[in-house]
Amino acid sequence: MDHYYFTSCCININIKDKIIVAKKLVILGAGESGIGTALLAKQKGYDVFVSDASVIKAIYLKELEQNEIEFESGSHSVERILQADEVMKSPGIPEKNELVKAIRAKGIPIISEIEFGYRYKGESKIAAITGSNGKSTTTALLYHICKIAEEDVAMVGNIGYSFARQIAIDPKALYVIEISSFQLDDIQYFKPDIAILLNITEDHLDRYNYQFENYIKSKFRVIENQTALDYFIYCIDDEVIVKHLELLTTNTNPLPFSMKQEVKKGAYIKNDQMMIKIQEERVTMSIYDFALKGKHNAYNTMAASIAASTLGIRKEKIREAVSNFHSLEHRMEFVATVRGVDFINDSKATNVNSTWYALESMQKPTVLILGGVDKGNDYELIADLVKEKVKAIICMGTDNKKIIEFFKDKVANIVEAPSAKSAVDASFELAEKGDVVLLSPACASFDLFKNYEDRGCQFKESVKEL
Ligand code: ADP
Repeated sequence: MDHYYFTSCCININIKDKIIVAKKLVILGAGESGIGTALLAKQKGYDVFVSDASVIKAIYLKELEQNEIEFESGSHSVERILQADEVMKSPGIPEKNELVKAIRAKGIPIISEIEFGYRYKGESKIAAITGSNGKSTTTALLYHICKIAEEDVAMVGNIGYSFARQIAIDPKALYVIEISSFQLDDIQYFKPDIAILLNITEDHLDRYNYQFENYIKSKFRVIENQTALDYFIYCIDDEVIVKHLELLTTNTNPLPFSMKQEVKKGAYIKNDQMMIKIQEERVTMSIYDFALKGKHNAYNTMAASIAASTLGIRKEKIREAVSNFHSLEHRMEFVATVRGVDFINDSKATNVNSTWYALESMQKPTVLILGGVDKGNDYELIADLVKEKVKAIICMGTDNKKIIEFFKDKVANIVEAPSAKSAVDASFELAEKGDVVLLSPACASFDLFKNYEDRGCQFKESVKEL
């Protein structure tokens, strides 16, 4: 069932008394999703109030003022917030927040930004991409394919504008949305025409009562409203996904992708050839022509290509786009070769699983730069790959005890480096011609850097200085 009827329900009209009462929408958090929602809600006639406990960024403040949207910065007016008819909560605010608890206790509905945007997307289509790793890459690739095919498309969500902002300022016929589990936690009717679930590995468990099952359920909400007219593209090689899928009844059209088996519908890779089978049309392509290298990217490429096929994009366009796509910054990004040593920036690898894929794709002896803020990492996952491929580890963090303890009998050389510059210098000293230096830290960055982008940029700068 579709739920377009919400489109015009934000204003209560009391015809007898000729009073028009706008629905009170409170927006918690004035980041990109909050401001996007505020702009769209204001346009649609809601009574909007934005509240952020921290200081709102100048650029967003200006937008609120220019659009005459009421807001508060630095604190929450609890009483006013609890008068709301509905609350849009930024995905960054956890359930254990006292204000969120109070809103729940009062029974005020809480929605996420993608749910709000969904009310106003009209007839446009949605391709939603989620998973523990690879979301940004796959979103950007699918968007690129759509652009090459000259679709009227926008790329939104965690990457680029928020969905709601895009609808408010420049609506499109198709939205390619990167979606986190936090956005999915507060949906109600949100239904993508195409849902992509790349993989599920343990992440963000602090937000899910340390229950992996809760995180899995959250990811699967991407298909909860799907019907027989929609598509569900997922990795059939991922045991967590397959197990959970067995417990569900769903009407959607499953289109799995695999590197281990030939699927009847969907995509697979066999003898280094990708085969996509949707309806009559078949797309085949050599994996050596993929612009994105590595096993993980072969999965991402399959997922994006299936989605493009279901959108009716011609195979020539898919082939062209998949082979000329430029990978995103900080994700297995080739930086330079200096005196025969390759440098690769994979700063976005903030968990062990992404480092596993990075190492898996290494074909030369590797000096690995690891470390930062550990989110409860289990290094056992990469132990074998490290033993096989890594000749030295550079620990780039303020507290490296855990890494040193774990790898000391597995790697010949372990060195500590408290900055990007010292890490690059040390790695260059240890590397020989024909080796690769890989920054794939498996950890968050905020002990030494502002964020993973800052870490990656400092790494690249230091390489250029060699
Ligand atoms: P996300 O948006 O989900 O964080 P990104 O595309 O930004 O994903 O990639 C994050 C990290 O995960 C990078 O280090 C990248 O090399 C790695 N990665 C990308 N795709 C996958 C995948 N399908 N499986 C595992 N790791 C991946």
